[in-house]
Amino acid sequence: MRNQSEIDVAIVGGGIGGMVAALLLRNKGCSVTIYEKESRLGGRLAFHRHDEWRIDQGPTVVLLPQMILSILEGAGVDCTKLKKQLTLCEPMARIHFADGTVFHKYHDVAQQMAEIERASPGESVNFQAYMTDLKKMYDDAKPVFLDRAFLRKRNVLSWRTLSTLWRAKAHLSVEQLARKYFRDERLRHAFSLQTLYIGGAPKGTPGLYSLIPYAEQAFGIWYLQGGYATLAEMLTEALEACGVNVRCGYPVERLLVTGSRCEGVVVGGQAYNHDVVVYNGDYPNLQKVAGVAEHDRDQRQWQPSSGCVLLYLMADCRWEQLTTHQFFLPSQFDEQLDTIFKQSKVPSHPAYYVFQPQTIDETVAPSGKTLLYVLIPVPTKIDGQWSEVAEQLSEQVLLDLQTRALPGLMEHIEWLDIRTPADAQSFGLYGGGSFGLAPTWSQSAIFRPQIKHREIEGLYAVGASVHPGGGIPIVMQGAKLMAEHLLKEMRV
Ligand SMILES: Cc1cc2nc3c(=O)[nH]c(=O)nc-3n(C[C@H](O)[C@H](O)[C@H](O)COP(=O)(O)OP(=O)(O)OC[C@H]3O[C@@H](n4cnc5c(N)ncnc54)[C@H](O)[C@@H]3O)c2cc1C
Repeated sequence: MRNQSEIDVAIVGGGIGGMVAALLLRNKGCSVTIYEKESRLGGRLAFHRHDEWRIDQGPTVVLLPQMILSILEGAGVDCTKLKKQLTLCEPMARIHFADGTVFHKYHDVAQQMAEIERASPGESVNFQAYMTDLKKMYDDAKPVFLDRAFLRKRNVLSWRTLSTLWRAKAHLSVEQLARKYFRDERLRHAFSLQTLYIGGAPKGTPGLYSLIPYAEQAFGIWYLQGGYATLAEMLTEALEACGVNVRCGYPVERLLVTGSRCEGVVVGGQAYNHDVVVYNGDYPNLQKVAGVAEHDRDQRQWQPSSGCVLLYLMADCRWEQLTTHQFFLPSQFDEQLDTIFKQSKVPSHPAYYVFQPQTIDETVAPSGKTLLYVLIPVPTKIDGQWSEVAEQLSEQVLLDLQTRALPGLMEHIEWLDIRTPADAQSFGLYGGGSFGLAPTWSQSAIFRPQIKHREIEGLYAVGASVHPGGGIPIVMQGAKLMAEHLLKEMRV
């Protein structure tokens, strides 16, 4: 049996996956070094900065706070401050439909039932049935799909896995599953658009991912005071406090692989030896750094999730009656999504999401002004230059937003910054996809890259493109599975 304090771990990348893996392994006594190519930790969990102001650059929707807290507490992190800074968003979100109607999602069951009755009389009973069935599905599927890795093919072919898949209606899409409960198309959209959080279309994402709309409803959407990226700052402090060796500005060029064993990393031409390596870059990029042809069997043609055009802007006025999270759907929402997901084209009438943090946190914007984040789902590859396409798209979406919710917006914009899939790609996100590998059947569960490399010994992986998948709490859960497995293997 090996003593954990003798295990020397290198982590390539300090995204949420790498940071949480480091905290968990350090808490068990391992010596841990993070090699991060950027000048700060956090990866996609970052702020966009303009002058002295900052707004979340990527994640804004805090889901499953209990999962986040329990993983961090399990890593020995003092979560007192984090708990204090988490605030429930109520309403959770406002959805604007093309016909001008508006629907609110509430965490509170009575309020949600009343809102459903207002929007579509007689359907609150369908909501109750949906929540009852989805709770069973969540309780059933979580231990099988979130609490374990698929390291052997026989795991997926086991009777338990197959029967759970059947009960989880894995043969349906998220949209088809919502259709079984809700008559009103607007409600179907309200309970299936959450696949966009992980870069998939409701119609093309397996029903198992209905656990996202369920979890959102059952556990709420939360906001972290200061912005979600504050979490990266808190974890950076925790890493320093517990003695993790953090090396920012260290881009790993390749892994040291001898025979079929990974023994360290190379940065700036210099080799750094370690017992094991955890890769937290976007998984398909592993091939470039692993760099040994005979190990390529674990690689294949992966499909990235959708990308985003992101707008960050300051307006020199305030609007009344706003809410933190808003979705604006076009007419023929499904067809517009098909344009992105099937034809790989920018839709003529895009759907978009708007985040207005100052509705819940006055500290983020100057008084009398409005800080806005707009996310427009787009394909990752298009004909033409992203810089030009994004400029036009930005104008179109902001005009639409002006008409539907923020009168006079265009003449009040003080500054506007735009990010495109080209920026995501140059940051290192495979194919420019924002959310990791697309959540398709062929890239989920056993078919997704796993927490341990199948061919190279001593090489592990965490992150949005690795099982169990993307989104902050789920990547953290993957880091937990990986750390437990690594420790089990190294002790033998
Ligand atoms: C626009 C957008 C909106 C999102 N919204 C939400 C949301 O509302 N809620 C939610 O839960 N999730 C959301 N997500 C998803 C969430 O951000 C990701 O699932 C999560 O942050 C991914 O973490 P990660 O550890 O996989 O990797 P990353 O955050 O990508 O971090 C990987 C790190 O590895 C580093 N790295 C890569 N290669 C090397 C190398 N060779 N050497 C050294 N360092 C390297 C990178 O610089 C980076 O810091 C959103 C994502 C985006 C882009």
